[in-house]
Amino acid sequence: MYEIKTDIHTHTIESRHAYCTIGEYVAQAKKIGVELVGMTDHGPAMGGAPHFYYFLNLSAIPHMVDGVWILKGAEANVIDFEGNVDLEDRILKKLDVVIASMHESVIIPGTMEDHTNAYLNIVHNPLIDVIGHSGNPNFKYDYERVIAECAKYDTIVEINNHSFEFRRGSAANCKEIARLCKKYGTYIAVNSDAHFYTEMGVYGNSIEVLEELDFPEEKIINRNARVLLDFLSKKKGIRFTGE
Ligand SMILES: [Zn+2]
Ligand SMILES: [Zn+2]
Repeated sequence: MYEIKTDIHTHTIESRHAYCTIGEYVAQAKKIGVELVGMTDHGPAMGGAPHFYYFLNLSAIPHMVDGVWILKGAEANVIDFEGNVDLEDRILKKLDVVIASMHESVIIPGTMEDHTNAYLNIVHNPLIDVIGHSGNPNFKYDYERVIAECAKYDTIVEINNHSFEFRRGSAANCKEIARLCKKYGTYIAVNSDAHFYTEMGVYGNSIEVLEELDFPEEKIINRNARVLLDFLSKKKGIRFTGE
């Protein structure tokens, strides 16, 4: 049985189609024993998403509130098949964690080759830490090639619990992606992609898949706050002091 004590993909009211504040996530985390919450609101290219000032000013929030770690991040939108995203490098550099995701409302799906090309450039971008919900069948890519590359560059592949219910046709792809992460020794992060606080840290579907695959626990980079923070400190040079 896997125990995963952090959640690095959640949305606040700032994303406009999500319904909680950072404070409400922190309170829930404390209640259910989640050690760390990543706030990753949508990048500005998505309808209703916050202005880039929102991301620039995240330093106003401490890394720890009420005993719960907070990562100040973003879910950047992939805007083209070169793998560019909708936040400038100077902003990405300031964030604790950056997820890059493809959304149909921002980018029209292309060919498998287009998606593979975009993902390879994302993997090679040191300012991007996580590939978000890539099991989406509308954005299929060469899993084997990209996931092997993720292992070389320490890019994390997300297993998104939300996808099993909300992105039709994702389940089989997510399983295949997890299988390849095991094969290549690629780090994964199991996340909720919560849009309301009760979804945070709830991973039933993902854990079922990991159990079926006998996925190595040490490759779940967000299994606890310490492991995750050590990884991010080393990769990005951030000091997480709890202040
Ligand atoms: Zn997303
Ligand atoms: Zn999301």
